[in-house]
Amino acid sequence: MKILIIEDEMEIAKIIQTTLERESFECMVAYDGLTALDLFQQQEPDLIILDLMLPKLDGLEVCTRIRQKITAKDPYILMLTAKGEEIDRVIGLSTGADDYLVKPFSPIELVARVRALLRRSLRHGGTKNNVYETQHFTVDLDKHSAIRKSDDNTEEALELTTLEFNLLSTFMSYPGRVWSRTQLIDKLWGNDFFGDERVVDTHVRRLRKKIEPDTANPTFIKTVVGVGYKFEDEA
Ligand code: CA
Repeated sequence: MKILIIEDEMEIAKIIQTTLERESFECMVAYDGLTALDLFQQQEPDLIILDLMLPKLDGLEVCTRIRQKITAKDPYILMLTAKGEEIDRVIGLSTGADDYLVKPFSPIELVARVRALLRRSLRHGGTKNNVYETQHFTVDLDKHSAIRKSDDNTEEALELTTLEFNLLSTFMSYPGRVWSRTQLIDKLWGNDFFGDERVVDTHVRRLRKKIEPDTANPTFIKTVVGVGYKFEDEA
């Protein structure tokens, strides 16, 4: 497991690195946002520890840019913030960070959070074999197949359009993660999309019709008011 540490305070970066290397993680360190983006592209880390206050590009901007890049691995991002208003910024802006940790934190706490995030990726298949599996769904990116499993273990192939399939795969790649419409557009259409971002709602509505038992009360694709959507299906 590769971890990219992005932290401008060298002492803190060193402590994080030593702590994680002791747990047998492979670590690399960047002291500013621009270097971090380069390292991210070269190394494709599994997890990124990202300080909010950074020189050149701040943590929020780095987070946004990482989420916009289409890479084989979509890493987990653990944001580091100082006490106070910064926490509200991180949560409020829904940047695509998966978790956050408030400074100062103990090495034990750090390791616990990192392990929890990586467990999440293993449990949900990550990019292993290009298959995402949750309790009720399996999507296979290579075979381009999507299957719904009932509670009595019967399986049913879902007939999805390419967009619906990509939407479901994106959701299943990060169960529980909140996606803004912009982030979904970046994933599904790339950066050259010029249209109304409400187009996402249309595709979500169509996908819900195919996968939700009750579209009026969605079980799997939940609306997050003021932000976007998230997919939930406990394994
Ligand atoms: Ca800092």
